[in-house]
Amino acid sequence: MNRHSLAVGPLLVLAMLTPARHAAAQTPAPRPGPSPTQPIDEQYSKKIREYTTETFFLSTLVDYLPASKTVPTPSVVLGDIAGAPNKLPYSKEVYAYMRLLAKASPRVKVFSIGTTEEGREMIAVAVASEALMGKLEANKAALAKLADPRTIGMNDAEAARIAAEAAPVYYITGTIHSPEAGAPTALMELAYRLAVDESPYIKNIRDHLITLITPIVEVDGRDRVVDLFKWHMAHPNDTWPSLIYWGHYVAHDNNRDAMGLTLKLSQNVLNTYVDWKAQVIHDLHESVPYLYDNTIGDGPYNAWLDPLVTNEWQMIGWNNVQEMTRMGMPGVFAFGNFDTWSPGYLMFMAATHNGISRLYETFGNGGSAETLERTLSPGETSRTWYRQNPPLPRVKWSLRNNNNYEQTGLLVSLSYIASNRELILRNFYEKSKRSILKAKTEGPAAYVLSGDTRRPGTQAELLRVLQKQHVEIARATGAFTVSLPARRGAAVRQSGGADSAAARQSGSGAETTRSFPAGSYIVRMDQPYSRIADALLDYQYWAPNDPQRTPYDDTGWTFPEGFGVEAVRVTDTKVLDVPVEKLTGEVHAPGGVSGQGEVVAISHNGDNALATLRYRFKDADMQAAEEPFEAAGHKFGRGSFLIRGVPAAELDKATKELGLTGYALAAAPSVKTHPLRAARVAILHTWQGTQTEGWYRQAFDLLKLPYDYISVQDVAATPDLKAKWDVILFPPAGGSAQSIVTGMPMWRNPLPWKNTPETPNIGTWAQTEDMRPGLGWDGLRNLQSFVSRGGVLIGVANTAGFAVQYGLTSGVSVNQAGQSRVVGSLLRSRLVDESSPIAYGVIDSLAVMSDDGESFSINSTLGGRGGSRFGEQSGRPTGRGTASDPDVVQGRPALDPRFELPPRPSVEQWQLPPISDEQLRNPLGVIPPAQRPRAVLRFAAQRDLLVSGLLSGGGELADRPVVVDAPRDQGHVVLFTINPIYRGTTVGSYFLVFNTILNFDNLNAGRKLDVR
Ligand SMILES: [Zn+2]
Repeated sequence: MNRHSLAVGPLLVLAMLTPARHAAAQTPAPRPGPSPTQPIDEQYSKKIREYTTETFFLSTLVDYLPASKTVPTPSVVLGDIAGAPNKLPYSKEVYAYMRLLAKASPRVKVFSIGTTEEGREMIAVAVASEALMGKLEANKAALAKLADPRTIGMNDAEAARIAAEAAPVYYITGTIHSPEAGAPTALMELAYRLAVDESPYIKNIRDHLITLITPIVEVDGRDRVVDLFKWHMAHPNDTWPSLIYWGHYVAHDNNRDAMGLTLKLSQNVLNTYVDWKAQVIHDLHESVPYLYDNTIGDGPYNAWLDPLVTNEWQMIGWNNVQEMTRMGMPGVFAFGNFDTWSPGYLMFMAATHNGISRLYETFGNGGSAETLERTLSPGETSRTWYRQNPPLPRVKWSLRNNNNYEQTGLLVSLSYIASNRELILRNFYEKSKRSILKAKTEGPAAYVLSGDTRRPGTQAELLRVLQKQHVEIARATGAFTVSLPARRGAAVRQSGGADSAAARQSGSGAETTRSFPAGSYIVRMDQPYSRIADALLDYQYWAPNDPQRTPYDDTGWTFPEGFGVEAVRVTDTKVLDVPVEKLTGEVHAPGGVSGQGEVVAISHNGDNALATLRYRFKDADMQAAEEPFEAAGHKFGRGSFLIRGVPAAELDKATKELGLTGYALAAAPSVKTHPLRAARVAILHTWQGTQTEGWYRQAFDLLKLPYDYISVQDVAATPDLKAKWDVILFPPAGGSAQSIVTGMPMWRNPLPWKNTPETPNIGTWAQTEDMRPGLGWDGLRNLQSFVSRGGVLIGVANTAGFAVQYGLTSGVSVNQAGQSRVVGSLLRSRLVDESSPIAYGVIDSLAVMSDDGESFSINSTLGGRGGSRFGEQSGRPTGRGTASDPDVVQGRPALDPRFELPPRPSVEQWQLPPISDEQLRNPLGVIPPAQRPRAVLRFAAQRDLLVSGLLSGGGELADRPVVVDAPRDQGHVVLFTINPIYRGTTVGSYFLVFNTILNFDNLNAGRKLDVR
């Protein structure tokens, strides 16, 4: 902690003093407290005091509620005040109140901002003075000029004039994490206060600032957590189920989607933020006592942000601590256990779009609205340099306390921004301007995605992510050439190099040039939202000796690498002079079928739309070519699709839609083929963790790949799994292998997860009378029999470990990273066996997501492969002569050559060790060749291993297999230690899973068996 006390301490004193002095036209912050002339709602205020457990958990900002004759308080909907014990409102109650407020007050408006995956509405509530509300559009137009300084010719004087007059927009987002359930009631009351309170403190906010509130970000999860809480209240003596599903797909990870923008809530919040030209996103969480303003967090800071914003974090955050400390509220602090590196958090949408990201952790009661006695750990209550007034070791804690902290912190923040609005708007303009100047100052000038890519569909998918981020994309109208800088050392990579041999070969050190064809995409950095594009397309490097020892989340995310698409970082500013057309619609890969003939060939390039096509025509005859071939003047890779029996017009339409290019052939090529099946797939989940598997369901749904969603309990109850499914995909489930089998403890009462009148918001797609039972021995036996009879089981990370530990595979063991360290990094892989159908269309040198550096070892005999290979030493033993001389035993004739061991071939980590004569004498432990594991993909050599993020060491994982096909009787268990389908960011590795599915009954294709 020393480095921070020295580095941050003196700075923060300056930060608190300077902004107030320098702001040109600021309003001094009035003193908090009620207006002397406005009546108080005595009854409501009395309840506030009653439900607050200690007087010091109140502030002068929230210890009263002003009365209004016309505007209803939250009690009209809640039947009690906001934060009352045991009152947790559903989304419809929260929305109903916000709309009542809007009806009663001209200072409030409610906007619908989209829907969730399950069709629930998301809203944004704007609160400001009548005068500001009357000119919302004009104010937005003014802010738009600051947001895009190109529109005013980068005129600083004009910007200063606008900054002096416009009102900033402060966007507050509540309860993205459903069990952190307190924000909606705090925000209902906050909206009332902002609309009604005539005190100078609130009036200053209302007159100079537009407060925008999305009271519930994860609406689907909100309604479910309220269901569970009501169930708990109705069954007070029972243990209660945990919230196994928050959103439709993911739980806590909904706050990791600000890069990929795959979830509706991310898209809706970003669109609202950008549409309103807001300056701040302030996201409310509840897992740390009592208020941790984690905006400031800890290093390392995200390297793509303008330092102006990281300074703003300090300014606003420390002011927050200072003011709440002044009000006597304990446990308010700013620095702490959160590094500000990954831009995946919801709040970061503001930081990466020239605004200010902010986040509070207040203290909640874990999805309950009860008042509870809470005991804190010594680590939470210790006094330290950044927490001089720490939380108390043991107190009664109420929802009202939480709401007091949330509202007080927010009001202090709103007041600060209102009073320093001109500074904030000038900074907003400055950051936007510097994002445009970036192309010519720090660079790069642009990223170029070549028009001649092998993978146009995946390239378009990557570009669409940028478009969702409101990044402008241009397309070159002619061919062009740029110079690429000299490289330092062979290890320096070109982005997305996996797609391009040309880019790799030019790594010699001298400056080179690169030519791109017409139609190439250019992501120019002279645009307002260049920073998010740069942050996603660039590489991340987390130094192994970084003082931050516990990265909060993934350390690397380079999108072109994860997608397996090349994006060339161009610093040559000539690229900005290339004639382009600006794209207006969504980027879409070209497609369609050309030529005439019965058989249509589509090259397997790993574009995920190929899997969609297979299922769209699920009864059509589709074959996979087992070898590359040429036809109709085109080259087709291994695994390419040969399609028969789909009407030409239909196939043409589908391939156009999907961005796939087909060639109709007069005759089928004479290449060996096997059927590509529209296999029957089940995605399997436990009742203990569905977070990570949610990303799989989402990918399948977005690609329109059908599946049944089943639980370990369904497997236990289905003896003949093979009758229903061909492939069971078991994505990472969390927990140990043993817990997959045993489930939860069976003591106490059943834990239902069911759609009932009592819990109407629990989805019907996954239900059980009792969440406790796991797979059990019946389930294990059914899975074994499923695989033995020709089924394919796919295990990933801990479910792969489960399959290995419970003997579903032979000759595979799992290695931890040992002394090496990997924390959510992209690592380089290499194809081991290109002829395996699992590898069809997958590029060599693909970057893969490794959570912690886990890898496999494979062996031809039972048991693990261990550290030293077959227990033998390499090199000669200590003895006479030089290192290359033979040893000589004294007093014995020189060794006859017939007694010497034949030289052993060297065996790489990804190869099966050969079987020795000794092992064959009684070969019980020798796995028959056809049942031995087959490595498909491995980690690259140590020197090539790191693509993006943190890698320390690497020797223990280098070269080791990461995707293994383990045959078992008639079927296969396909194992992954990497996560191929993750947060919408690893699109380049999805097809490893899809290939396994489509080729489930031909996975042995191309396999060369060991001779013995
Ligand atoms: Zn949270």
